[in-house]
Amino acid sequence: MFAFWHWILQVTGIANESGKWYAFWSGIGADFAEGAIFLSIVGLYHRHKCQSCWRPALKGGLGKVEGTHYETCHKHTNKDDHEALKQEHALKHPAMHEHLNREQA
Ligand SMILES: [Zn+2]
Repeated sequence: MFAFWHWILQVTGIANESGKWYAFWSGIGADFAEGAIFLSIVGLYHRHKCQSCWRPALKGGLGKVEGTHYETCHKHTNKDDHEALKQEHALKHPAMHEHLNREQA
């Protein structure tokens, strides 16, 4: 176990800087916590975001592009946009596209 820690300290280059231990660990810990929160917010946003722009997607599946997992905002719910997204989806995720289409058939 000691050898392991010794190795960690060597690798991270802080072997002789014990005074910086606290700053090092609290810094890393805070970064992890903040990063996790940040990522979950970004993840939520991306999952419910318009496929064509930065706006959030319409609620209640109103902006859903048929046959895909894409969602759009009120600005991109017209037929042309959805048709274009459908084609893009078919190109990017051929397997999933097939699967989704079969589910709806
Ligand atoms: Zn949009």
